[in-house]
Amino acid sequence: MKKLILSILCLPLFGKRVCPLAFSKIEISGKGDFIPCCGDWLTSDYFKIEKSDDNLWNGEQAVKLRASMYAGNLSYCKTDICQTTLLSPFILSLLYFLGLLRYIFPQTSFNSKNLWKMNFKKTLMPAPPSMAVLQGDFRCNIACPSCRSTLITTNKPEDEERLARAQHLLDQNARGLSKIQLAGDGEAFFTKWHREQFKNFTKENFPKLKEIILYTNGLLVNEKSFNDLRPGTDFVKNIIISIDAGDSETYKLVRGGDFNLLLKNLYWMKSLRESGRIHTFRICFVVRFENLHSVISFVELGRKLGVDQTIFRPFNSWDNMGVVSYKEQAVHLSDHPRHGEFLEIKNQVKSLPRVVFEA
Ligand code: SF4
Repeated sequence: MKKLILSILCLPLFGKRVCPLAFSKIEISGKGDFIPCCGDWLTSDYFKIEKSDDNLWNGEQAVKLRASMYAGNLSYCKTDICQTTLLSPFILSLLYFLGLLRYIFPQTSFNSKNLWKMNFKKTLMPAPPSMAVLQGDFRCNIACPSCRSTLITTNKPEDEERLARAQHLLDQNARGLSKIQLAGDGEAFFTKWHREQFKNFTKENFPKLKEIILYTNGLLVNEKSFNDLRPGTDFVKNIIISIDAGDSETYKLVRGGDFNLLLKNLYWMKSLRESGRIHTFRICFVVRFENLHSVISFVELGRKLGVDQTIFRPFNSWDNMGVVSYKEQAVHLSDHPRHGEFLEIKNQVKSLPRVVFEA
């Protein structure tokens, strides 16, 4: 039923369908590109557009991306892999005023002034972004081979320069942000940059802030760190923990961390969810050859923790990964010798309650 309603809404009623993320969300990482979604979903032509470090929100890239949507060609988006629902500005506005938009796009947040301008095909947004993804600090307390080849606990001078640019952009947009996601490419409870941000997320500095979505490996998330990092942690309403294993041996192999410590923290987060202190509690598993055997026990772990979602994702290739051979590990690819086993396990778990299998 939900799918049917969404399919009807997705018809190009009252104008071409646009991507709401390009009008509401920004990645703040100091890289100098306007990225409203996953950067991998944007074409190489997009990254050739001139950038203006100081005004990303209404800069050349943002304007051209929005114009391509009004024109209906989405020429800068890899539409074959993008997973975002596109709707006409009229339908977006209608859903906003009915209070339904946040259920369809929980990953972002909207501003009525910007929605209004979209109905007139404006590419310059009068209000700042309402959602930001903060990332770009790669420091972390562990070194998962699927992400990096060495432990990164310090920054080079060029990293510090990038973070200074990111901080400037964050300060510029702070007063409009109602939702913030961090981090994604480093550990938010470990890096100095993010730890300082938590201390700085006050009502004075971020008057509209309502919600933080925390992406974490969970090893440092406990009652003490939540207290130490207030007031920012008071806004943490959604937690998603990357684990990639359902047992301690596999965890040691794929993440190198202390599984018992993680379990202790996970059960503490479970209590936050049960008391209603946080709204969603999700755990995540990137499937590859080395942890395929641990999928079933991960589903069981999710059941014991009472999580809202147990998410399985495909293993993507990154620069500087610690995994020696991507092909050997990418068991979700149809030409992998163990792909049949992968499909069997996937079919066994994908329809279970609260399991989301994206891989
Ligand atoms: S790639 Fe998808 S999510 Fe990204 S801007 Fe284009 S339509 Fe939106």
